[in-house]
Amino acid sequence: MKKLLLIGSLFFMGLMANAQNGNTNSCGTDQHLAEQIKNNPSLKAAKENYEANLKELMKNYNPNDYRTKAGQQKKATIKYIIPVVVHVFHNNGSENISEAQVKSEIDFLNKSFRNLNSDTINRRAGMFITPSGDTNYYDNKSLAADIEVEFRLAKKDPQGNCTNGIVRIFTPLTNKGNDELKKMSVWDTKRYYNIWVVKQINRGNTIGIAGYAQFPFGFGGGASTDGIMVIHNEFGNVGTSQPGQTPNVTTSTHETGHWLGLYHPFQISSDSCGTDGDGVFDTPPTYFSPNSTEPLRNKCSNKSYNTCSTEKPDLPDMQENYMDYFIGNCASNMFTLEQKARIHTVLENFRFTLWQPENLAFTGVDDLSPSTCPPVAAFNSQAPFTCAGSKVLFLDYSYGGTINTYEWTFEGGTPATATGKVPGQIQYDNAGTYDVTLKVTGPNGSNTITLPDYVTVLPASSNLPGGYYTADWWYQNNWEEKGWRFVYENDQNQFKRFGISYNQNASMRYSQDPFNQYNSVGSISSLISPSFDFSGTTTAYFSFNYAFAQAVLSSTVGGGNTAEELKVYTSVDCGKTWIVRETINSTNISTIGTGSSATLSSAIDFIPADQSKWKTVTVSGAKIPSNSNVRFKIEFKYSGGNNFYLDNVNVGLSTGLNQNLADAIQFKAQPNPFNVSTNLIYNLVSSENVEIHLFDILGKDLGTVFSGTQAAGSQNVEIEKNAFHLTPGIYLVNMKIGNSTLNHKIIVE
Ligand SMILES: [Zn+2]
Repeated sequence: MKKLLLIGSLFFMGLMANAQNGNTNSCGTDQHLAEQIKNNPSLKAAKENYEANLKELMKNYNPNDYRTKAGQQKKATIKYIIPVVVHVFHNNGSENISEAQVKSEIDFLNKSFRNLNSDTINRRAGMFITPSGDTNYYDNKSLAADIEVEFRLAKKDPQGNCTNGIVRIFTPLTNKGNDELKKMSVWDTKRYYNIWVVKQINRGNTIGIAGYAQFPFGFGGGASTDGIMVIHNEFGNVGTSQPGQTPNVTTSTHETGHWLGLYHPFQISSDSCGTDGDGVFDTPPTYFSPNSTEPLRNKCSNKSYNTCSTEKPDLPDMQENYMDYFIGNCASNMFTLEQKARIHTVLENFRFTLWQPENLAFTGVDDLSPSTCPPVAAFNSQAPFTCAGSKVLFLDYSYGGTINTYEWTFEGGTPATATGKVPGQIQYDNAGTYDVTLKVTGPNGSNTITLPDYVTVLPASSNLPGGYYTADWWYQNNWEEKGWRFVYENDQNQFKRFGISYNQNASMRYSQDPFNQYNSVGSISSLISPSFDFSGTTTAYFSFNYAFAQAVLSSTVGGGNTAEELKVYTSVDCGKTWIVRETINSTNISTIGTGSSATLSSAIDFIPADQSKWKTVTVSGAKIPSNSNVRFKIEFKYSGGNNFYLDNVNVGLSTGLNQNLADAIQFKAQPNPFNVSTNLIYNLVSSENVEIHLFDILGKDLGTVFSGTQAAGSQNVEIEKNAFHLTPGIYLVNMKIGNSTLNHKIIVE
């Protein structure tokens, strides 16, 4: 099998989209090399020189080190230890991955390189008959090698300071990971294996690269770019990179293979049906089809055959190999003995500075020198929101040097102090926000961290009546004073007041971000209500209007994406736990229809010009608990779409609330806001008994505005400020029309 790939050709570019079994994310190493050669043509000769050298050097490698099955046995002392630094480039989004996720990747790398992964059981061995009738045997189990390389996060930085081996750099450029970005944070590449983790890799105009590596041979000015770059959601197997997700967790293993000198098994050779492939004799060359259906490629079943080669047995593609692109049951679980020889030769001759004992001491990763690092204090809580009278559990995540003592301080908590790694549950009796402090001390010093206002304690029962309430975005609205708040998990981007509204003058807008510089795809923004007392009632409702246009054009970043989600939740425990009551997703979330005519390029600002561009969401009935402490949450998950607008949020008790009627009567208050008087203008489709009352914001009935029978047609009822002794603020016009009740806001200036 032989792939037909020519590095640097347009053909290659076309392949990228089909690589890795149809994944959009693939390896960009070959493309990176092609770009480098294009920018620096002498690199081609350097590569050829390196390969000729390597071939000679490998002749000196003791075959017994890798060609015998005995070579697979684990040795007590690891041969090569490599200090690692991981640079996490982030924009405060989910790409700012946790330390646990980084460690999970290092752990996975070590399992991969030491032949310890659990999926090694999927390796195949067997017999097959070629079309010409020859019998061939293959045994990928016995070819698998323990590479005897171990990666360790650095404990000392280049200046000799203590470190956990992770550097975090805040920059919107994480959306366009490339060699330039690497230079913002790089540690001496002769001493550290540099891994850069980004949100998105942008090689030229190509997006959708999972990772890319730099090969061991020399580059003009290349030292500062030596290492690998990987997207965060293929790095590690916890957090944003979960096992079973497509693409998979072996990306860094694959890229590290390149960094240690391995090519793809389908790598270029002098002719398209050549025999050399990656230059490794125990990885059969692989036919790599540009057609996504891959009709000629060997499968796990071994039923397909090479159409090129007649000169040697056509072994099945080694889909088990980490350097192959295949994804499936038997995929990505081994390096071979000959690949091990190549890696060792590279480590001995081209990357030898990394694993020298002097460097292991310099970077703090050796087993010999005692740690002189003080510990670093860190902690977390699983529920920083809670009700007064509830308990909160805190978890210690301190790291670094040895820790002998823990000293916790809980402002507003009982107990107010604690010792030990596990402080137990802390009770909070009074509403407010409280600091938490942790001091850790060990033989090498101590460290203290204080998280200000870390715990939010809310009243255990409602401070608002069960009657009507509204959160509008009028410029004098008191919605924040009443306890409504926006909460952002990651984003810099926030909801801001905007002068287009469903029914008044302003809404809250979450602005589009065509290049995702400020928004992170998948990040979540929420509006959380104050608490309402709905004990003993089943007629509560929660409603709001929103407007949204998806950016489904493929030319935009995040394009073709309909992953936005709008959810409504309720909570009866101050936001500690939430229950989903409504989910609006896929194309249903669009308020301007679906199909090409309803889609917008993110280059065009979506403005919902009239009410037809908005949708109403209502949660009512059994979806709202009959509880004295009910909170609502509207949650919007961003995924690269256009502007999202939120308006006219209403909470109340309804008696025969009729949304159709509300639309039909076309209610307006003019002017609104008003100084002296306003006219309530509406349309009755038939003659009705009408009763209009005015309420204040706390639900107090201020009196009757109108009571009687009105004929079909346009109606006009005036409210004078002085007649009701109104002071500036929001008031509610409560209309009973027939058996239905409607509410509208008016504002006195
Ligand atoms: Zn690759």
